[in-house]
Amino acid sequence: MDHTLSAIKRIENRAKQIPGVISLAQGIPSLPSHHLIRNEVIDAMLNNKVDKYSPPAGLLEMRTFISQKLAEKNMEYSHEHEIIVTAGGIEALSATMLALLKHGDEVIILTPAYPNYERIILMAGGKPIMVPLSEKGGWILDLSLLKKRISRRTKAIILCSPNNPTGSVLSEKQLRTIGILAQRHKFLVICDDIYEHFYFGDNAPFNLCTQNQFKKQIIRIVSFSKDFSLSGWRIGFIHADNEHISKILSIHDNLINCAPVISQYAGLAALKNEKVILNEYMEIYRKRRKIMGDCLESLSEYVQFTWPNGAYYFFPKIIGATDVEGLCFDILEKAKVAVVPGDDFGAGGKGHIRLCFGKSEEEIIEGMKRLEQYFLYNKFTEV
Ligand code: PMP
Repeated sequence: MDHTLSAIKRIENRAKQIPGVISLAQGIPSLPSHHLIRNEVIDAMLNNKVDKYSPPAGLLEMRTFISQKLAEKNMEYSHEHEIIVTAGGIEALSATMLALLKHGDEVIILTPAYPNYERIILMAGGKPIMVPLSEKGGWILDLSLLKKRISRRTKAIILCSPNNPTGSVLSEKQLRTIGILAQRHKFLVICDDIYEHFYFGDNAPFNLCTQNQFKKQIIRIVSFSKDFSLSGWRIGFIHADNEHISKILSIHDNLINCAPVISQYAGLAALKNEKVILNEYMEIYRKRRKIMGDCLESLSEYVQFTWPNGAYYFFPKIIGATDVEGLCFDILEKAKVAVVPGDDFGAGGKGHIRLCFGKSEEEIIEGMKRLEQYFLYNKFTEV
């Protein structure tokens, strides 16, 4: 197993040592936690509600509210047996893999993908099976290729739609086919819905988890880190059929006992004020996406890209570059902008860089200006 940190974190660590760097690297939203959330958390603190452990699955009040919110989306999950409040998405993913994988079980990842998927599967003794998406036409899943990678050892597939790093969204047809394949071949569909609310079309994308016939197959992971700008609070939740949740709960208990209670109150406040907060925040991200996308269009001599339909990343291909990790470190040293090499997201990401528009408008404008200067004056010949 690889014990080095992912390139995203290595780039961020180096960036912190360079004065005046603008980071468009790690997906950390610039927005502060909302005052509606802070006020409720302060209230919980002042009323001595946050000092003690909660039940391992989370505060009853939180799980009950989550269950009600899920029902509004046609997802029927019992607060008693089918929901666990977690320390963010990454703990939910880790607890899931540790609970459900046996040594050598295969888990399919569509690449490019969030680097921690592979790392977590390996940590849990599983075997990652990569299925590359086709960049042509906007990161399309070739279902025949997926079918070829399904074997008797396939335990799960991880889906992240809207996607990190590509910003692409899987179609209803693709998702339904995956659901049917999962039923037929008896594997799980782990839906990492961390970017659920980041979509830039008029309507929310189709979500397989709303289709109750697939409930036994689905494990859904939700996080408050990105959409509610609570990445430092480490809070999220997981829901699935009782059979899976009971196993995941025992691992979650061994790992962290319960999610930080103060953060559970933050998550609860976020859900209670979901509409107001998300309307406000998503409007801001739409604007940031446009600013970054327009800047990239003006760099068409150097980059090729498609506009993301969701999440908050652009994933342009750098024309003519082969050593993109070297290039990213060179950009960092010379232009003082941190961006992530696409190789970090698996073979499908080769030749690309990832830029996050979770950052403030000023940072995006200045960062893109520096990038333009870099391309103009360095010609990014191999570094
Ligand atoms: N899944 C994806 C696709 C992510 O991009 C991230 C964070 N960048 C996570 C899970 C984990 O996030 P957190 O633990 O903060 O919820």
